[in-house]
Amino acid sequence: MPDISFNCPLCSQQLEAPEEYAGQVIECPACQKEITVPAPQPVQKKATGNKCPGCGTALEEGVVLCMKCGFHTKLGKKIATDFQ
Ligand SMILES: [Zn+2]
Ligand SMILES: [Zn+2]
Repeated sequence: MPDISFNCPLCSQQLEAPEEYAGQVIECPACQKEITVPAPQPVQKKATGNKCPGCGTALEEGVVLCMKCGFHTKLGKKIATDFQ
């Protein structure tokens, strides 16, 4: 499980806590004050501008096959036949 990394709101010390500590009050090891561990930040998906040339649907980074129309961006053509 990934750790949450955050900054102490009181002393700005960079801290890490296991994900299961989210929402719990801990003692900051730097300033010894009680702070609440924030919820983990969801990993931001980069806007890649990756789009299906066939139908214009936005595709996630690394996705080469459009699930909407079956267009394969690497091959440059529709490969799926079960979209009819
Ligand atoms: Zn602190
Ligand atoms: Zn498409």
